[in-house]
Amino acid sequence: MKPQTRNRAEIPDTCKWDLAPIFATWEDWRAAYARLETLIAAFATRRGSLGEGPASLLGAFQAVDELGQLAHAVWYYPALKHDEDQRDNDVGARHQMVQILMARWQQATSWFNPELLTLPLERVREWMTIHPDLALYRFAIENLYRLQEHVLDDKGERLMSLVSRFDATPSDTYEALSTADAKFPTITLSDGRSVTVSYGEYRSILATSRQQADREAAFRAYLGSFEAARNTYAALYNGVCQRDWFAAQARGYATTLDAALSAHNIPPAVVETLIAVTRGHTAGLQRYHRLRKQALGLDRYCIFDGQVPTVHADRIYDYDEARTWVVESVAPLGPEYQARVRRSFESGSIDVYENEGKRSGAYSAPVYGVHPYMLLNHNDTLDAVFTLAHEMGHNIHTVLAHAHQPFVYSDYTIFVAEVPSTLSEALLLEYLLAQRTDPRERIVLLEHAIESMAGTFFAQVLFADYELQAHRLVERDQPITSEILGDLYGQLLKDYYGDALDDEPLARLTWARVPHFYSTPYYVYQYATCFASAARLADRMLQGPEASRAEAVGRYLDLLKSGGSDHPMEQLKRAGVDLREPDTVQAVITRFDELVSRLESELAGLGTARSPGPPRAGEPR
Ligand SMILES: [Zn+2]
Repeated sequence: MKPQTRNRAEIPDTCKWDLAPIFATWEDWRAAYARLETLIAAFATRRGSLGEGPASLLGAFQAVDELGQLAHAVWYYPALKHDEDQRDNDVGARHQMVQILMARWQQATSWFNPELLTLPLERVREWMTIHPDLALYRFAIENLYRLQEHVLDDKGERLMSLVSRFDATPSDTYEALSTADAKFPTITLSDGRSVTVSYGEYRSILATSRQQADREAAFRAYLGSFEAARNTYAALYNGVCQRDWFAAQARGYATTLDAALSAHNIPPAVVETLIAVTRGHTAGLQRYHRLRKQALGLDRYCIFDGQVPTVHADRIYDYDEARTWVVESVAPLGPEYQARVRRSFESGSIDVYENEGKRSGAYSAPVYGVHPYMLLNHNDTLDAVFTLAHEMGHNIHTVLAHAHQPFVYSDYTIFVAEVPSTLSEALLLEYLLAQRTDPRERIVLLEHAIESMAGTFFAQVLFADYELQAHRLVERDQPITSEILGDLYGQLLKDYYGDALDDEPLARLTWARVPHFYSTPYYVYQYATCFASAARLADRMLQGPEASRAEAVGRYLDLLKSGGSDHPMEQLKRAGVDLREPDTVQAVITRFDELVSRLESELAGLGTARSPGPPRAGEPR
């Protein structure tokens, strides 16, 4: 059970991570920091030597690896300590020292790629055939040359680097406008309490308030602050699209999408197929919302009614129970995988409960040469159980990648990273649905799963659709105004939700709110592709004859072991997932429809539709 105390010193050691395997003391960390400084300085002396021959080139690659491995430990020790208690200024200062050192390392190695690219690829290939140790770096080298056609000459690159100083202006301005300078309105809730509707408060009211009037008021208040500055937001978003189109044209890409996907060699058809197939299959999403409308007993059902659970979830999910479930749920992945999960729980690498000053949320940190560390803030909710499964997926991915890849390929891309985490959540859901018999708990489980698919898949595809259409307006020299973006977003809501959502004019302004649109364009589609990949893999691993299931598991484990040793599309293809195929996207839609049908029959079994009743005393909103 969750400890009553928020004082870290009083929380049992068994529930805290032990960082001693990284460094036993701060003294050891300081010594490693000093060694890293020496290595960075020494690396500079290699400048101009890469063309001397295979031994020089190999020496430089190995030096980069040595630096990188040491940097992992030197970086993570203060970073993890800092997250234990962010109020500790001494640790915070050391954390900043490493950040500065890392920036110096970037600068000190910035000559490396341009110098390598001055060597003809044929010569480097020849060196790799005579020097097998150099061949280890083949993928890294060839990938660098692959991108070379979009690298400009010296003058052009200098100009691009000068222009890059303006890159962050739209997103920095968005940040300032939507947070630092934002004036969030205060509203009075139906229980008489008044709250200031910041983003956190808005999310919380939509997800927990049983009173539709409160959800509506919070939505109106929060989106209203964007409406007040809608023309400014449109001007900023125009800045994002114009910047992307400038960079794409300057580097010789046909479209902004081509430019965004080229770093990881992803074909644009992946995003286009994702959007086209999803658009064609929104019936399940609409059925889900109609079912919710009925279960919640609402006459009018709007975008702000989409998150509140239809039944009360008052069960406590304590950590020990969650831990047992996560171990048992991965049984389909085989005894060896299961043993790794067990070891991960026993290695003193998980920081379980919240304490004063601790960083919020959850993550898995891949500390090379030691083991992954996991930060949680387990609060005994069902959500926390799924978070544990999610982070454990990342943990085992890291363990397998680090065990099977040399350092240079130990890090995997975002494009595959969310596959094992999503898959772990799917396995946990299947396990729990098979175990739990209380109909209310089953409904809570199904809703949790469907909600996470609606949010991670459908909502992200809609976002990607919006980004693509808005960028295409700019590519065709069309204007971008708040009216045009509102029409675009309003049409998307109609296309995806049909008449399942009643009209709410402010919903058209959602484009103004989403931080990803300003900070990382063409990023969110990866949540959806990871989801689709995981659904495809889960299908193959859980269904069909035993031999084919075992083969699918083997291919999945090979995917995790492959780390970052190839282009992500190739890695996924070897695991049996081709994201260019409409069938892959179809798998996630089929699974969604199936879960909605299960929810429908569970709700029917409960004798719905009934109204959820008044909130009980002491219940969080
Ligand atoms: Zn994740």
